[in-house]
Amino acid sequence: MMSPRDTRTTRNTLPLDAESETRVRQALESAGCRYTRQRGEVFAFLQSVRSHPTVEEVYRAVQRRVPRISLATVYNALEALVSADLAARLTSNDGRACYDCRAEDHYHLRDVETGEIRDLPVEFDPQLLAKLDPKLVEKLAGSGFEVTGYRLEVLGRSKK
Ligand SMILES: [Zn+2]
Repeated sequence: MMSPRDTRTTRNTLPLDAESETRVRQALESAGCRYTRQRGEVFAFLQSVRSHPTVEEVYRAVQRRVPRISLATVYNALEALVSADLAARLTSNDGRACYDCRAEDHYHLRDVETGEIRDLPVEFDPQLLAKLDPKLVEKLAGSGFEVTGYRLEVLGRSKK
């Protein structure tokens, strides 16, 4: 019989530390999803990059650590992470999904030609909606729409 500590030691190949693994496991389980080593690997990769990779990009990267993983497993893992609020799904211009696991609110910069999405290096302003219109949130609430947040994307292209 292995003690829980031994189990953790055998998982040392996982790039997630024990604390992150527990957090991911709990979030997945409270969303009704199972925690698996593959899902841990997918989350660890997403957390390690500053880009917003597509399913195929995550697949190619995670495959180096988990050679037998399938594209469908990676896709399901990403969707499970989204349903557990551990990641967000962004949609690129051509409709492909990109994934982001940065937890704090932030803005994006989108290259309209390549579809690449990057984080914008500015501080998030929780008061921005009030700056656009101090009564906006109130007005929307009056018409039955509860504001839960907002997104901002700066569009452009890299100069040739
Ligand atoms: Zn982002």
